[in-house]
Amino acid sequence: MEFDLDNLVRPNIRNMAPYSSARHEFSGEARVFLDANENALGSPVSFMDTKGEPLPLNRYPDPLQMAIKEKLSRIKGVPPQHIFLGNGSDEAIDLLFRIFCEPVQDNVIIFPPTYGMYEVCADMNNVALKKLPLLPNYQLPMETLEAAIDEHTKLIFICSPNNPTGNSILREDIVLLLNNFNGIVVIDEAYINYSRQRTFITELTEYPNLVVLQTLSKAWGLAGLRLGMAFSSSNLIGYMNKVKYPYNISIATQELVLRALNNTDQVNDWIKTTVQQREWLAQELATLPFTVELHPSDANFLLVKMTDAVDIYDYLCKRGIIVRDRSKVILCEDCLRITIGTPAENQEIIQALQQYKA
Ligand SMILES: *Cc1c(COP(=O)(O)O)cnc(C)c1O
Repeated sequence: MEFDLDNLVRPNIRNMAPYSSARHEFSGEARVFLDANENALGSPVSFMDTKGEPLPLNRYPDPLQMAIKEKLSRIKGVPPQHIFLGNGSDEAIDLLFRIFCEPVQDNVIIFPPTYGMYEVCADMNNVALKKLPLLPNYQLPMETLEAAIDEHTKLIFICSPNNPTGNSILREDIVLLLNNFNGIVVIDEAYINYSRQRTFITELTEYPNLVVLQTLSKAWGLAGLRLGMAFSSSNLIGYMNKVKYPYNISIATQELVLRALNNTDQVNDWIKTTVQQREWLAQELATLPFTVELHPSDANFLLVKMTDAVDIYDYLCKRGIIVRDRSKVILCEDCLRITIGTPAENQEIIQALQQYKA
């Protein structure tokens, strides 16, 4: 069966007219903007661009963020019309549910243990969730997957490198799914910068059912700014633009992201440091008597199984060091997830752990 995107989209979304903003209706040269009920007198706070000119905070931002997309296009090698920008990847995840999943009727597949937002968005949108646990080696359960897919399965979320396990999902398994599933395969690459795995954004023309999610929240160091990216066919990106809030990225965010995208060298240096620190931290954790298992990581965190994770978690908290207790999560019994910090922070947690008495 041929993949048919328009047919997969919910009919109400396919047929709706998007919000038409004031700036949308006009094209050409203009000097006087009396069309959007903005305050033409100014804004009570100012924010300068790099030339020292105040940004027009009294005006609505570009709804399609074209300046950012053009810069990203050069960095990522993907044309602007294949890029969606959202208020974090979380916005993109929610939009995919709203575009493809009929509440009550449709379902999506996830592979626990994985990122929590897929389930939150499913619950919020009243969409059934089929949870197929990863195998003990944290790879996809390919044998049971085929039987779990039915005519109402619209989305399959694959997180690679996976949070909280840290491993990358086998490329051949993902490719098999892309070739055989007639719904949407979403690959969440939030941690791709720390991985030796190749990104899937180079495969967009190959697979019309592929959506790749990336974010500025991790390697780019901009979790506070909220900028998530989705890469897909221009047709699918068109639906995301149709459903999103018209002005989902503020002028201030757009300006700061534009400046940040000039600093790729800095970001690449940090990635190197984080990967080196990850290897150092892994070595040190492996020498601790209460480390039971250290899971290999392609991300900026390590998942470690310890003899008594909850007790160690409490002990670290008392010393002012917070890690993520994943011990109640399926396939993560007695595991802590430790984010790679600065070299000094990493030394501090190792010193604290060396002083832990079980
Ligand atoms: C951190 C993370 C994100 C990032 O979400 P944002 O909304 O972009 O901050 C996305 N997916 C996974 C798996 C993550 O761990």
